[in-house]
Order: sequence, then structure tokens, then C-alpha cells
Amino acid sequence: MATPPPPPPTNMVVMVTGGSGLVGQGIKANIDREANAAETWIFLTSKDGDLRDKEQTRAIFEKHKPTHVIHLAARVGGLFSNMKYRVEFWRENVAINDNVLHLSHEYGVKKVVSCLSTCIFPDKTTYPIDETMIHNGPPHHSNEGYAYAKRMIDVINRCYHLQHGCMFTSVVPTNIFGPHDNFSIEDGHVLPGLMHKCLLAKQKQAAGEEASFVIWGSGTPLRQFIFSEDLGALMVWALREYDSIEPIILSVPEEAEVTIKEAAMAVVEGMGYTGKVTFDTSKADGQHKKTACNDKLMKLNPSFKFTPFSAAVAKTCAWFEANYATARKGGH
Ligand code: NAP
Ligand code: GDP
Repeated sequence: MATPPPPPPTNMVVMVTGGSGLVGQGIKANIDREANAAETWIFLTSKDGDLRDKEQTRAIFEKHKPTHVIHLAARVGGLFSNMKYRVEFWRENVAINDNVLHLSHEYGVKKVVSCLSTCIFPDKTTYPIDETMIHNGPPHHSNEGYAYAKRMIDVINRCYHLQHGCMFTSVVPTNIFGPHDNFSIEDGHVLPGLMHKCLLAKQKQAAGEEASFVIWGSGTPLRQFIFSEDLGALMVWALREYDSIEPIILSVPEEAEVTIKEAAMAVVEGMGYTGKVTFDTSKADGQHKKTACNDKLMKLNPSFKFTPFSAAVAKTCAWFEANYATARKGGH
């Protein structure tokens, strides 16, 4: 008797909230490189509907009927934006997360992978930080609105799992950078902010004017940076293969941590700037470090290779310079 043909692949409809952002585009770059016929990917933007609004969120779920959700949409910003808009960071993120997770439950979504951040960990802690330590004490005061909204994703994931059996999980990335970031000087994260300032200084220098590339703060804080396309690959892996509701840190190793000054010098190199570099120490440093441990990730995905930091910074500088006219450079 002839062997029956294999059953058709189970079709997954993967809906990515916040699909137009830094991480969403990092995922898209991976999916564009390596499509899987069993998966249909939908990358949402805020133009598809405002996820702070329950009925608009419901309309999106009704339209796409996702089987899987990667939940990235959030109010996102760097240290200085977090200090200015504390209330908005709390309220908008809580509303978005509540709507997306509850509608995922109502529509029977099989798996949701949401995004936390290493800046939600306790300020006073031992190092390295691991996944078990999220709720061990208050976060740094500079971003508590955002941090508590994000921490609640972990709490509510567990609630949906225990009460309804849902597979809602979360990943915890470190500071992310790459093409499609928000390069706002006032409200963006450190690397896109520095790239923007460095490009302006380079242009001034080229015009024969006096130029200075200004790094905010003392330059001594430490950060682990992850390239958005590496994170995109890891998020696709997490969606397909990570089957636990417990958060998992997605980070470069502890040894890859750099000072803000070293990161700024990588930008100088990547941007090809040769002028003066100064520090504005009147600006805040924020949390000194948040060194995270990636042991859990490397145990489950041992063959993963991170893009070297300098190469990823150079690629992002080139992208920003080439796309200066259209790149996001605004705050809220
Ligand atoms: P991003 O570049 O600022 O993108 C944010 C995305 O969310 C955009 O697609 C935006 O849509 C969408 N969005 C924002 N508000 C919305 C709303 N009310 N309704 C619908 N869509 C909305 O952010 P990202 O850096 O990719 O961050 C993705 C996730 O990673 C977030 O959950 C963030 O908290 C987390 N994370 C980020 C970092 C980092 O360093 N960037 C670090 C750790 C964790 P439009 O493009 O249409 O505005
Ligand atoms: P964080 O990693 O969550 O604290 O947020 P950021 O990505 O905004 O990084 C903040 C750190 O970078 C602080 O130590 C700042 O003092 C330092 N920094 C240096 N220059 C800049 C800049 O141009 N923009 C931002 N956002 N931070 C800067």
C-alpha cells in the first residue's frame, strides 16, 4: 500500500503588534530572508488601529484572526523620555498590554510572546541579573512608570496560564539598536541619539564649522546592546521553540557589556567622524548597570551567534545616514 502523503503544514497566522518599529523590522528582516510556507506574517503599525483602545484592538483581532501574536507595540523611549513622561509610559503601556492579552485570550490565540526589558529589573540587586529576579525590589526611579507596566505583563501571563491554560510568555531584551529605530535626540535611546548627534557634528565639520559630538552624562554607565536583527532572529526562535510562560533574557553575554563612552566611540568610528568629542555631565547617567545573564538562552539555543557590536553599529550608522530624510527622529 502506498504511503499516504504527509498532512499539510499547520498554518500559523503570526500577528506582530508594533511591526513597523525597531524590533518589528528586525523580525521582518529575518522573515524576508527565510520564509516558512506554513506561516503567514502580519506586521501591524499604529495606522492599523490604536491598541490603547479596546474596540480598535478587537477589530484588528477580528480582521486577522491570529493563531500566534508577537506583542511589541508599546510607548518606548530612552532615559530622558522616561523621566519626562512617567504617567504616559504607565497608562499607555498598561492599556495596550491589557487589550492585546485579553483579546488574545478571547480569540483563542495559541501563543503570545511579549517584550519586557532589562530596565525593569530591581535597581538594588546582585549581578548578573537573571530571569528569576524581576520582582525582587523596586526598579530604578528614572523609569518606574514603564518598568511597572512591563512587569505586569509577566504577572498577567501567569494569571492567564493558571486560570485559562494560555501560553502567554515574554522575552527580556537588553538595550536594542538598529535600522528603523527612533533617532530622536531628545526622546530616543542612547545609540540612535548618539548616531544622530554624531552625524550632525560630522556635517558641521564637513561645512567647515566648529563641531562637537556631545555624549550625555559621565560615559561610565555600562550597557549590553543587542542588534535588532539578532533580536529579531531570537524572537522568531522563541515563537517557534520556546515553550514556557517564564520570561527568558535575550542578551549578548556579560563580557560584551560596554561603557557608554565605548559605545559612543563605536559610533564615532561607524560614522567616520574625526572631530571633537565632549561630555555633558549635567545630564543624568540613569542606572549604572543592569548586567544580565544569557545562560538560559545559550543553553536552549547554543548555536546562536551575535553580530559583533562594531559591525552592527557601522551597519546602523550607514542605514541612518542613507535614510536620514525619512528615518524617525521625533519624540511624542
Ligand atoms: P519602536 O521602534 O518605538 O516601535 C513601537 C511600535 O509600536 C511601532 O510599530 C508603533 O507603531 C507601535 N505602537 C506604539 N503605540 C501604539 C499604539 N497605541 N497602537 C498601536 N501601535 C502602537 O519600539 P521598539 O524599540 O521596536 O520596541 C519594541 C518592544 O521592545 C517594546 O515592547 C519595547 O518596550 C521593547 N524593548 C525595547 C528596547 C529598546 O531599546 N528599544 C529595549 C527593551 C525592550 P507606529 O510605527 O505606527 O507608530
Ligand atoms: P537606558 O539604557 O534604559 O538607561 O536608556 P538609554 O538608552 O537612554 O541610555 C541612557 C544612558 O546613556 C545614560 O547613561 C545616559 O547618560 C547615556 N547617554 C549618553 N548620551 C546619550 C544620548 O544622546 N541619549 C540618551 N538617551 N542617553 C545618552
